[in-house]
Amino acid sequence: MISEKALVTSLPPVGGAAVLLDFDGTLVDLAPTPEAITVPADLPDLLRALGDATQGALALVSGRSIAALERFVPGFDGVILGGHGAERRDGQGLWRHPLAGSDTLARLIAGARRLADTHPALNCEEKPTGVVLHYRRAPEQETRIRHEMTALAAPFDGLDVHFAKMAVELRPDDIGKDRATRDLLNKAPFAGRSAVFCGDDATDEPAMRLCVETGGTACKVGEGPSAAPLRVADPQTLRAALWAWTQNR
Ligand SMILES: [Mg+2]
Repeated sequence: MISEKALVTSLPPVGGAAVLLDFDGTLVDLAPTPEAITVPADLPDLLRALGDATQGALALVSGRSIAALERFVPGFDGVILGGHGAERRDGQGLWRHPLAGSDTLARLIAGARRLADTHPALNCEEKPTGVVLHYRRAPEQETRIRHEMTALAAPFDGLDVHFAKMAVELRPDDIGKDRATRDLLNKAPFAGRSAVFCGDDATDEPAMRLCVETGGTACKVGEGPSAAPLRVADPQTLRAALWAWTQNR
Protein backbone atom coordinates (compact mmCIF):
# COMPACT_ATOMS: atom_id res chain seq x y z
CA MET A 1 0.00 0.00 0.00
CA ILE A 2 1.24 3.46 -0.81
CA SER A 3 -0.07 6.82 0.30
CA GLU A 4 -1.98 9.30 -1.79
CA LYS A 5 1.17 11.42 -2.15
CA ALA A 6 3.34 8.47 -3.16
CA LEU A 7 0.83 7.48 -5.83
CA VAL A 8 0.79 10.96 -7.34
CA THR A 9 4.57 10.99 -7.67
CA SER A 10 4.57 7.48 -9.19
CA LEU A 11 2.20 8.38 -12.02
CA PRO A 12 3.33 9.79 -15.37
CA PRO A 13 2.59 13.48 -16.08
CA VAL A 14 -1.19 13.76 -16.33
CA GLY A 15 -1.03 15.83 -19.51
CA GLY A 16 0.47 12.89 -21.42
CA ALA A 17 -1.58 10.14 -19.80
CA ALA A 18 -4.53 8.06 -20.98
CA VAL A 19 -6.61 7.30 -17.88
CA LEU A 20 -8.77 4.20 -17.60
CA LEU A 21 -10.81 3.78 -14.46
CA ASP A 22 -12.90 0.92 -13.21
CA PHE A 23 -15.93 2.17 -11.27
CA ASP A 24 -17.15 -0.12 -8.45
CA GLY A 25 -14.58 -0.75 -5.74
CA THR A 26 -12.19 1.63 -7.49
CA LEU A 27 -13.88 5.05 -7.62
CA VAL A 28 -16.77 4.17 -5.31
CA ASP A 29 -17.03 1.80 -2.35
CA LEU A 30 -18.76 -1.53 -2.91
CA ALA A 31 -22.21 -1.94 -1.40
CA PRO A 32 -24.39 -4.97 -0.54
CA THR A 33 -26.18 -4.62 -3.90
CA PRO A 34 -25.06 -2.87 -7.11
CA GLU A 35 -27.83 -0.28 -6.79
CA ALA A 36 -26.93 0.58 -3.17
CA ILE A 37 -23.61 2.33 -3.88
CA THR A 38 -23.08 5.93 -2.83
CA VAL A 39 -21.53 8.16 -5.45
CA PRO A 40 -19.20 10.65 -3.74
CA ALA A 41 -20.38 14.23 -4.20
CA ASP A 42 -17.09 15.31 -5.76
CA LEU A 43 -16.82 12.47 -8.29
CA PRO A 44 -18.36 14.40 -11.22
CA ASP A 45 -15.91 17.26 -10.68
CA LEU A 46 -13.01 14.85 -10.40
CA LEU A 47 -13.93 13.20 -13.72
CA ARG A 48 -14.29 16.60 -15.37
CA ALA A 49 -10.86 17.65 -14.07
CA LEU A 50 -9.28 14.41 -15.31
CA GLY A 51 -10.94 14.80 -18.71
CA ASP A 52 -9.63 18.35 -19.01
CA ALA A 53 -6.14 17.43 -17.82
CA THR A 54 -5.87 14.57 -20.34
CA GLN A 55 -7.56 16.38 -23.25
CA GLY A 56 -10.32 13.79 -23.21
CA ALA A 57 -8.15 10.68 -22.86
CA LEU A 58 -10.31 9.41 -19.99
CA ALA A 59 -12.53 6.34 -19.93
CA LEU A 60 -14.64 4.52 -17.40
CA VAL A 61 -14.13 0.77 -17.90
CA SER A 62 -16.74 -1.20 -16.02
CA GLY A 63 -18.61 -4.44 -15.87
CA ARG A 64 -21.79 -2.42 -15.47
CA SER A 65 -23.93 -1.42 -18.40
CA ILE A 66 -23.42 2.02 -19.88
CA ALA A 67 -26.99 2.90 -18.92
CA ALA A 68 -26.27 2.11 -15.26
CA LEU A 69 -23.10 4.20 -15.27
CA GLU A 70 -24.93 7.08 -16.91
CA ARG A 71 -27.39 7.03 -14.00
CA PHE A 72 -24.59 7.21 -11.43
CA VAL A 73 -22.50 9.87 -13.19
CA PRO A 74 -25.05 11.66 -15.39
CA GLY A 75 -22.80 14.59 -16.24
CA PHE A 76 -19.88 12.49 -17.46
CA ASP A 77 -19.42 12.95 -21.21
CA GLY A 78 -16.21 10.97 -21.71
CA VAL A 79 -15.73 7.47 -23.08
CA ILE A 80 -17.46 4.58 -21.32
CA LEU A 81 -16.62 0.93 -21.90
CA GLY A 82 -19.46 -1.00 -20.28
CA GLY A 83 -20.32 -4.67 -19.84
CA HIS A 84 -16.59 -5.56 -19.67
CA GLY A 85 -16.19 -4.10 -23.16
CA ALA A 86 -19.42 -5.49 -24.65
CA GLU A 87 -20.60 -1.87 -24.94
CA ARG A 88 -18.71 1.25 -25.93
CA ARG A 89 -19.86 4.86 -25.81
CA ASP A 90 -17.48 7.28 -27.48
CA GLY A 91 -17.41 10.14 -29.96
CA GLN A 92 -18.75 7.76 -32.64
CA GLY A 93 -21.87 6.87 -30.65
CA LEU A 94 -22.93 3.62 -29.00
CA TRP A 95 -21.75 0.13 -30.03
CA ARG A 96 -23.04 -3.13 -28.54
CA HIS A 97 -22.03 -6.78 -28.80
CA PRO A 98 -24.50 -8.87 -30.88
CA LEU A 99 -25.64 -10.77 -27.76
CA ALA A 100 -27.60 -7.58 -26.94
CA GLY A 101 -31.26 -8.03 -27.74
CA SER A 102 -30.86 -11.69 -28.78
CA ASP A 103 -33.15 -14.64 -27.95
CA THR A 104 -30.23 -16.27 -26.20
CA LEU A 105 -29.94 -13.34 -23.83
CA ALA A 106 -33.69 -13.35 -23.14
CA ARG A 107 -33.49 -17.03 -22.17
CA LEU A 108 -30.47 -16.46 -19.93
CA ILE A 109 -32.20 -13.59 -18.16
CA ALA A 110 -35.38 -15.62 -17.65
CA GLY A 111 -33.32 -18.46 -16.16
CA ALA A 112 -31.35 -16.17 -13.85
CA ARG A 113 -34.54 -14.52 -12.65
CA ARG A 114 -36.04 -17.91 -11.80
CA LEU A 115 -32.88 -18.69 -9.83
CA ALA A 116 -33.03 -15.35 -7.98
CA ASP A 117 -36.62 -16.14 -6.97
CA THR A 118 -35.45 -19.22 -5.06
CA HIS A 119 -33.92 -17.17 -2.21
CA PRO A 120 -34.81 -13.68 -0.88
CA ALA A 121 -31.18 -12.53 -0.62
CA LEU A 122 -30.33 -13.30 -4.24
CA ASN A 123 -30.36 -10.49 -6.72
CA CYS A 124 -30.57 -10.70 -10.52
CA GLU A 125 -28.94 -7.86 -12.49
CA GLU A 126 -29.92 -7.68 -16.14
CA LYS A 127 -27.47 -6.11 -18.54
CA PRO A 128 -27.79 -5.25 -22.22
CA THR A 129 -25.10 -7.86 -22.97
CA GLY A 130 -25.43 -10.39 -20.16
CA VAL A 131 -26.89 -11.24 -16.80
CA VAL A 132 -25.46 -11.36 -13.28
CA LEU A 133 -26.66 -13.20 -10.22
CA HIS A 134 -25.44 -11.58 -7.00
CA TYR A 135 -25.22 -13.54 -3.74
CA ARG A 136 -23.33 -11.02 -1.56
CA ARG A 137 -26.13 -11.13 1.02
CA ALA A 138 -26.23 -14.93 0.93
CA PRO A 139 -22.62 -16.14 0.59
CA GLU A 140 -23.59 -19.65 1.71
CA GLN A 141 -25.37 -19.98 -1.65
CA GLU A 142 -22.12 -19.75 -3.60
CA THR A 143 -21.67 -23.39 -4.58
CA ARG A 144 -25.27 -23.76 -5.67
CA ILE A 145 -25.33 -20.49 -7.61
CA ARG A 146 -22.09 -21.26 -9.42
CA HIS A 147 -23.42 -24.67 -10.36
CA GLU A 148 -26.85 -23.45 -11.50
CA MET A 149 -25.50 -20.51 -13.53
CA THR A 150 -22.98 -22.80 -15.24
CA ALA A 151 -25.83 -25.17 -16.14
CA LEU A 152 -27.92 -22.26 -17.43
CA ALA A 153 -25.15 -21.22 -19.85
CA ALA A 154 -24.24 -24.75 -20.97
CA PRO A 155 -26.67 -25.08 -23.94
CA PHE A 156 -25.33 -21.92 -25.62
CA ASP A 157 -22.14 -21.22 -27.57
CA GLY A 158 -20.01 -18.14 -27.13
CA LEU A 159 -20.71 -17.56 -23.46
CA ASP A 160 -18.33 -17.03 -20.59
CA VAL A 161 -19.40 -18.04 -17.07
CA HIS A 162 -17.52 -15.58 -14.92
CA PHE A 163 -17.15 -16.13 -11.16
CA ALA A 164 -16.82 -12.59 -9.76
CA LYS A 165 -16.78 -11.26 -6.19
CA MET A 166 -20.02 -12.68 -4.72
CA ALA A 167 -21.61 -12.90 -8.16
CA VAL A 168 -21.76 -15.11 -11.24
CA GLU A 169 -21.99 -13.37 -14.59
CA LEU A 170 -22.93 -14.80 -17.99
CA ARG A 171 -21.47 -12.71 -20.80
CA PRO A 172 -19.98 -13.05 -24.30
CA ASP A 173 -16.69 -14.97 -24.33
CA ASP A 174 -15.05 -12.71 -26.92
CA ILE A 175 -14.95 -9.55 -24.84
CA GLY A 176 -12.90 -8.30 -21.90
CA LYS A 177 -11.62 -5.12 -20.36
CA ASP A 178 -8.17 -5.84 -21.83
CA ARG A 179 -9.47 -6.19 -25.40
CA ALA A 180 -11.60 -3.09 -25.06
CA THR A 181 -8.68 -1.19 -23.53
CA ARG A 182 -6.33 -2.27 -26.31
CA ASP A 183 -8.80 -1.07 -28.97
CA LEU A 184 -9.25 2.22 -27.18
CA LEU A 185 -5.51 2.82 -26.80
CA ASN A 186 -5.14 2.56 -30.58
CA LYS A 187 -7.50 5.47 -31.15
CA ALA A 188 -7.32 9.24 -30.67
CA PRO A 189 -7.12 10.84 -28.18
CA PHE A 190 -5.80 7.79 -26.29
CA ALA A 191 -3.13 6.63 -28.77
CA GLY A 192 0.47 7.51 -28.02
CA ARG A 193 -0.18 8.28 -24.38
CA SER A 194 1.06 6.63 -21.25
CA ALA A 195 -1.85 4.45 -20.11
CA VAL A 196 -2.84 4.36 -16.45
CA PHE A 197 -5.42 1.76 -15.41
CA CYS A 198 -6.93 1.72 -11.91
CA GLY A 199 -8.98 -1.26 -10.78
CA ASP A 200 -9.86 -3.45 -7.82
CA ASP A 201 -11.02 -6.75 -9.25
CA ALA A 202 -9.74 -9.85 -11.03
CA THR A 203 -11.51 -8.63 -14.20
CA ASP A 204 -9.23 -5.57 -14.20
CA GLU A 205 -6.01 -7.59 -14.06
CA PRO A 206 -5.55 -8.34 -17.80
CA ALA A 207 -6.11 -4.67 -18.65
CA MET A 208 -3.71 -3.57 -15.91
CA ARG A 209 -1.09 -6.00 -17.21
CA LEU A 210 -1.61 -4.67 -20.74
CA CYS A 211 -1.05 -1.09 -19.64
CA VAL A 212 2.14 -2.01 -17.78
CA GLU A 213 3.45 -4.03 -20.76
CA THR A 214 2.84 -1.16 -23.16
CA GLY A 215 4.85 1.33 -21.13
CA GLY A 216 2.12 2.65 -18.86
CA THR A 217 1.26 1.69 -15.34
CA ALA A 218 -1.56 0.46 -13.14
CA CYS A 219 -2.87 0.92 -9.64
CA LYS A 220 -4.69 -1.74 -7.69
CA VAL A 221 -7.24 -0.59 -5.11
CA GLY A 222 -7.41 -2.77 -2.00
CA GLU A 223 -6.06 -6.19 -1.04
CA GLY A 224 -5.46 -9.26 -3.18
CA PRO A 225 -2.98 -10.42 -5.81
CA SER A 226 -2.31 -8.01 -8.65
CA ALA A 227 -0.04 -7.33 -11.60
CA ALA A 228 -0.27 -3.62 -10.84
CA PRO A 229 2.98 -2.05 -9.62
CA LEU A 230 1.07 0.52 -7.56
CA ARG A 231 -1.52 -0.05 -4.85
CA VAL A 232 -3.69 2.10 -2.58
CA ALA A 233 -5.95 1.06 0.26
CA ASP A 234 -9.37 2.24 -0.91
CA PRO A 235 -11.38 4.35 -3.38
CA GLN A 236 -11.16 7.41 -1.14
CA THR A 237 -7.35 7.37 -1.29
CA LEU A 238 -7.43 6.87 -5.06
CA ARG A 239 -9.83 9.78 -5.59
CA ALA A 240 -7.69 12.08 -3.44
CA ALA A 241 -4.59 11.08 -5.40
CA LEU A 242 -6.31 11.60 -8.77
CA TRP A 243 -7.43 15.07 -7.63
CA ALA A 244 -3.90 15.99 -6.60
CA TRP A 245 -2.59 14.56 -9.89
CA THR A 246 -4.81 16.86 -11.96
CA GLN A 247 -3.33 19.82 -10.08
CA ASN A 248 0.21 18.65 -10.95
CA ARG A 249 0.28 19.58 -14.61
MG1 LIG B 1 -14.43 -2.96 -9.67
